[in-house]
Amino acid sequence: MFSGFEETPPSGVGGLGLYIHIPFCKQACHYCDFHFSTSLKKKSTLVDALCQELILRKDEIPGSLQTIYFGGGTPSLLEAEELAQIFKTIDAHFEVSANPEITLEANPDDLTGAKLKMLAASRTNRLSIGVQSFFEEDLKLMNRAHNATEAVQCLELAKQYFDNISIDLIYGMPDMSDARWQKNLDKALALEIPHISSYALTVEPNTALQKFIEKGVVKPVDDAVAQRHFEILIERMQKAGFENYEFSNFGKPGYYSQNNTAYWTGKSYLGIGPSAHSYDGATRSWNINNNPKYIKAIQSGELPIERETLSMTDKYNEYVMTGLRTIWGISLIKIEESFGLKYKEYALQQAQKHIQAHLLFVDQDRILVTQKGKFLSDGLASDLFLINLS
Ligand code: SF4
Repeated sequence: MFSGFEETPPSGVGGLGLYIHIPFCKQACHYCDFHFSTSLKKKSTLVDALCQELILRKDEIPGSLQTIYFGGGTPSLLEAEELAQIFKTIDAHFEVSANPEITLEANPDDLTGAKLKMLAASRTNRLSIGVQSFFEEDLKLMNRAHNATEAVQCLELAKQYFDNISIDLIYGMPDMSDARWQKNLDKALALEIPHISSYALTVEPNTALQKFIEKGVVKPVDDAVAQRHFEILIERMQKAGFENYEFSNFGKPGYYSQNNTAYWTGKSYLGIGPSAHSYDGATRSWNINNNPKYIKAIQSGELPIERETLSMTDKYNEYVMTGLRTIWGISLIKIEESFGLKYKEYALQQAQKHIQAHLLFVDQDRILVTQKGKFLSDGLASDLFLINLS
């Protein structure tokens, strides 16, 4: 039963969500540690398994789906028939709200006119496109499958089919000057994309990028550069009328990601596919991150899942962590109602020194991060974390 802590942000967006992981990519980006395979041989068998998992877990969502999100990997590698097969299974076994947000992550090199036409004819109504950069040197360093020309062309084309488009951009790359980062933002703004997700390049363990840096082939990532790029990002986006509604996310009014907002505000979601995570308000679970083992388990009617039950303290810490990254901050009333008076008093007490340093502020019952504190929001959140409160 879903009984988790919930919070509706002022805009009223968000609700029960379905996430479907498509674990295939054409090639491995140097910085990526997501789960995917570059062999597409088992794609249709895996789609069959996804549909089988949907059926096995149909009772885990107790209401109508507000959002459906195809993530990966590279969901734009799906063919029309595969996407139709998944939607048919969803319709047969889940209740879907009248106007759901249906997002599909896509890579620029897949977005031909024919593919966009197919996606627009499916029920997809939002594209999240992995542009990452409009510059050839950045795309080469990242080993992206697309080039700078395709990055622009796909957006011009996508706008003919979709109104609700988001792009990902990465900053803080070795050798990325402030000027080049600004030009990246200028290009995105000139193309009038209504939503941008922007992340600092992080060096994940066991990625090609980490090995190149260790060998001295690529310069290390510099935190000071990432902070400068973040400040440029905030300034440019605010000037252009975007709301920085979550640390890494910027949307024009009406274009916030409903799927991600639901996640940040503690709503329940069901994750289908290898490596997908789920949350039901009490437990967090995750599927095995191995395609053959996933397929084998599902074919024999088993769910290849591990679960952990979240303690009250875990839930409080997650609320603080995700909440402080958003424009909704954390609500002291909610903390008291959901976790108890001791938690509220602890949060306020821990926040005091940061309030005095103008990194946090209190507005009505909410603690929020100031403009000055934004880049430090993860560290500020961890200062409000509890190890254990008895
Ligand atoms: S396309 Fe996305 S999921 Fe695939 S390797 Fe690149 S960053 Fe990772």
